[in-house]
Amino acid sequence: MKGVFIGLGSNLADPIAQIESAILALNDVDEVTVVSRSSLYSSPPMGPQDQPDYINAVVEVDTTLFAHKLLDALQEIEQQQGRVRERHWGERTIDLDLLVYGNNTLDDERLNVPHPGIAERAFVLYPLAEIAADLKIPTLGNIEQLLEACPRDGLERME
Ligand code: ATP
Ligand code: MG
Ligand code: MG
Repeated sequence: MKGVFIGLGSNLADPIAQIESAILALNDVDEVTVVSRSSLYSSPPMGPQDQPDYINAVVEVDTTLFAHKLLDALQEIEQQQGRVRERHWGERTIDLDLLVYGNNTLDDERLNVPHPGIAERAFVLYPLAEIAADLKIPTLGNIEQLLEACPRDGLERME
């Protein structure tokens, strides 16, 4: 199944290398193929402001994994890259969020899909639009309209 999008973010321990390494690790997961990736973006932190700026990207994968299995794989990569949770929205080596899982909506104790932050997060919407300009997100609508309503908030695309 295509139309599965994953958001990546890092602000510790060489964030660009963290993002690149997570994309490779994701593509190495059985039953997951990265079919498209955005540029890298930099953004000011959300939540606590006393932490470094973030590097963000979004990838599309083609996968036969069910959403919860995919989340297991994302969390395994976070662990491999030394993710430690200390404070909510605090600094991290890598965050891998399942943004969109085709036309599906999921809502349980482990998974909310589409990811509930999408519409307010420039660092998700702009890279997502770069690789999926015509995307229609379940319950949220067209990405083009979401973009219009979302200021860039200091987000910059890196060359
Ligand atoms: P946010 O989800 O607001 O971006 P965060 O990414 O910092 O915050 P994490 O600490 O990475 O949050 O994850 C907390 C929990 O969120 C995870 O244990 C996971 O079960 C849950 N979760 C719910 N929906 C999703 C999703 N779509 N993608 C990833 N994790 C999710
Ligand atoms: Mg997140
Ligand atoms: Mg997360």
